[in-house]
Amino acid sequence: MHDLTLTRRQALWGTAALAGASTLVVQGGPALAKAPMATDQAPYFYRFKHGSMQGTVISDGILPLGEPSSSFLGTSKEEVGNMLTSNFLDPSNVILEQNILVLNTGQNLVLFDTGMGESTIFGPTTGKMMENLKVAGIDPAAIDAIVCTHGHCDHVWGIMTDSGERNFPNAQIYISQTDFDFWTDEAKLSMTDPSYMKLFVEGARKNLLPNRDRLVFVKDGQEFLPGIQAMAAPGHTLGHTIFVLTSDGQSMLAIGDTTHHHVLLLEKPLLEFAYDTDPKMSAKTRYRVLDMLATQRMPMIAYHFPWPGIGHIAKHGEGFRYYPAPMVMQELPEKT
Ligand SMILES: [Zn+2]
Repeated sequence: MHDLTLTRRQALWGTAALAGASTLVVQGGPALAKAPMATDQAPYFYRFKHGSMQGTVISDGILPLGEPSSSFLGTSKEEVGNMLTSNFLDPSNVILEQNILVLNTGQNLVLFDTGMGESTIFGPTTGKMMENLKVAGIDPAAIDAIVCTHGHCDHVWGIMTDSGERNFPNAQIYISQTDFDFWTDEAKLSMTDPSYMKLFVEGARKNLLPNRDRLVFVKDGQEFLPGIQAMAAPGHTLGHTIFVLTSDGQSMLAIGDTTHHHVLLLEKPLLEFAYDTDPKMSAKTRYRVLDMLATQRMPMIAYHFPWPGIGHIAKHGEGFRYYPAPMVMQELPEKT
């Protein structure tokens, strides 16, 4: 513990300095200007290099989950709280980012997932993708592929506007057939358990069905666009798919919703998440993917991790630990 008690000498010096300052103000004319607090923030996009590809992470805004014990299951409320507190995170409100990757492969301009669209079911902080694409100088009409990890609201609801227009008029849409079939299934509109099912299915139908003629179903292991390979990662949803991005011999993994939280589901990868269609399968997949990332030291981008969600996973204790990559804001000079 640090001893924060002021010594008598420090306290006296502080008092003297304060007295001096107020004297200065009285004698020296106008008081120091009080700067207004700024209300803006740095742009919500981040560019990075991956081999000869260029990635831009675009935010759809934060998605606050609230008190976590109803979302993260399989352990006590106290333990979830302790894990958050010991990682300097608020135990009363879990915040998920929505890190949408735009990958310029040199041949295609590919968007990975699309955020919440105009829905406000998680409050007013989501739905920022279109505005942040604009700030990043990316023309939605130039996107030629939308790759969906799965059919949930925060991933496919930004395909269409509320009035039924396409946000990306020139894009083909890639998703697993399993997720398309599951989340657009009319029979699920009458389901009451889980309570979110009707809403999720309605939203998926609104965004996916008008695009039936531009859907491409991706298969496990398939390189469906140059440098982009699908890898089945079922459990969170039955057709949840993640993507290996390879350029110049370097690979990184876009892990989608393999894990929703950089502490809770890493320290304890076998915890269950309330929105998983098959929580047991999801936990197994999570462990397998995290283990692969750690063993191969492969970089990854996670959709819900702290902004901008790029980093590495290493084994740690019974589980894993996330090491965020430093953000690179300028190029290093050439080595001489
Ligand atoms: Zn998600």
